[in-house]
Amino acid sequence: MADDKKSEKPEKKKKPRKPLYEVKGDTVTRVNPHCPKCGAGYFLAVHKERKHCGNCKYTEFAKSQ
Ligand SMILES: [Zn+2]
Repeated sequence: MADDKKSEKPEKKKKPRKPLYEVKGDTVTRVNPHCPKCGAGYFLAVHKERKHCGNCKYTEFAKSQ
């Protein structure tokens, strides 16, 4: 088989990811909060109704107003 097909992967639509940092002037602000258990460096994944730490599984639910 000389005609070896190269791996044809179906093109996935990449969702635009939210940047973790927001730069305002000279200040860099972290968009996502960091984990209270793991400390700075471990960001919480922000979902609709909750924030979740992928490291220690800490989950913080959004308070309903
Ligand atoms: Zn954590």
